[in-house]
Amino acid sequence: MEIEVHKGVLSKNQELADGLRRLFSDIGLFVVNIMSGPGAGKTTLLERTCEALAPSLKMAVIEGDIQSSEDAERIARKGVSAVQINTGGGCHLDAKMVKDALGRLDLGGLELLIIENVGNLVCPATFDLGESARVMLLSTAEGDEKPLKYPLMFTRSELLIINKTDLLGHVDFDVERVREYAAGINPAMEIIAVSAKTGEGMDAWYDWLVARPGK
Ligand code: MG
Ligand code: ZN
Repeated sequence: MEIEVHKGVLSKNQELADGLRRLFSDIGLFVVNIMSGPGAGKTTLLERTCEALAPSLKMAVIEGDIQSSEDAERIARKGVSAVQINTGGGCHLDAKMVKDALGRLDLGGLELLIIENVGNLVCPATFDLGESARVMLLSTAEGDEKPLKYPLMFTRSELLIINKTDLLGHVDFDVERVREYAAGINPAMEIIAVSAKTGEGMDAWYDWLVARPGK
């Protein structure tokens, strides 16, 4: 019974996500769904990204959090349109939430929309948001072993960003080990190592983003 209900939820979500994907494609909007565990540095990465790209690219951000509008405020301070979704306890975003949030955004001329999912390494990977690409963020502070326990997100992401490279040498994290693991389960996934804090490696991420709009 429980399995039937879950299937129903997922197929309804898929229907909505498919509709969103058609809309995004029709208006030429590149949409990125960023997923990670809590505290991996998604919002800091996005703050830097806004600073670097907003002057030349029309972008907006949807922030997903269980509660509070702190993250949307951080993005808005960078001069970028930001809409906050509060899931009210829900541990992932779904397509309905994104659809509702779009009503609060000016989509005219928009080239890039980044959706910051709720910090959670598990179920965000099973809910399609109609995005053009999925990006997984993993911080060196999380350790290189823990993420190996969440293979679904690895298999569903086109890009892995390893964040907090400024902590390498102080934490138990072997970048090569993660690269090998990722290559084993998702050979097509690209990997970029950055420090959103210091800016190291961020150009590769910007290049990845800029190459996509209109595709
Ligand atoms: Mg955040
Ligand atoms: Zn969830």
